[in-house]
Amino acid sequence: MRVLLVEDEPDLGKAIDRTLKQEKYIVDWALDGSEAWEYLDSQWTQYTLAIFDWLLPGLSGLELLRRLRAKNSALPVLMLTAKDRMEDKVAGLDAGADDYLVKPFGMAELLARLRALQRRAPQIQPQQLQVGNLVLDCGTRTVSHLDRSGNSQIIALTNKEFQLLEYFMKHPNQIITTDQIRNQLWEASADTFSNVVAAQVRLLRRKLESVGGANLIETVHGVGYRMRN
Ligand code: CA
Repeated sequence: MRVLLVEDEPDLGKAIDRTLKQEKYIVDWALDGSEAWEYLDSQWTQYTLAIFDWLLPGLSGLELLRRLRAKNSALPVLMLTAKDRMEDKVAGLDAGADDYLVKPFGMAELLARLRALQRRAPQIQPQQLQVGNLVLDCGTRTVSHLDRSGNSQIIALTNKEFQLLEYFMKHPNQIITTDQIRNQLWEASADTFSNVVAAQVRLLRRKLESVGGANLIETVHGVGYRMRN
């Protein structure tokens, strides 16, 4: 899942960025409203959630939100702000914010609010994905393997392996190109080497092999990959 974080305070931005990445989210962090709009306007990135600070250089968080909703985007947005006056909350919610968090806040609360936003958007984000004997839980961010008797065992995956598997499981039986994977799973600012996708697929396959899923991800030569369901 990809999150757009818009926060101009470096320390807070860094802390949120780190926390989200620990929770296996892919994070694009924009430092001002104009940069954020470039991310939102790009055809390359699809976000599951966004976090907008209210006061930003360039476009404000509120203005970003208005522009986003004017494009009929239903992207769930959590607004962050130091303002706690009632009229500001009303303005934010009127402009289409899905939730509101007043600074200072704890990271545990931020994560809980994000999980709640995901749950409220079931048409965008199913709670569980299943392919073969693999079950991916979008809420707990874990993957487990079901054996023949129906017992489940959690598979330990790195953040990147988890993100890659999630992307495949969301698009079963479809050919996914290497470029699509790179654009979806790596931060826009990441300095990715050319065979980073192939290397990551190899690592994921090795983990799946241990639960009998060696052939779940096929290579489509010269194009990319496909996960068979
Ligand atoms: Ca700010």
